[in-house]
Amino acid sequence: MLTNAFSLVNCMAKKKRFVYVCEGSCGAIVSPRRYKAGLKKCGAESCGMHNRAFRKKQVID
Ligand SMILES: [Zn+2]
Repeated sequence: MLTNAFSLVNCMAKKKRFVYVCEGSCGAIVSPRRYKAGLKKCGAESCGMHNRAFRKKQVID
């Protein structure tokens, strides 16, 4: 049962994957998991996009 649920999650993740990227100089890449946990803005003070929202980007395998 547990194994089945895990395979299903993997399958869905392969279908459509996204990351969140900072378009400023820091070039941060944030996983959807971290984004959902509240990391939605660039936190690098030296970055030109500091405190600006990350942009959603589709990952093509
Ligand atoms: Zn940044």
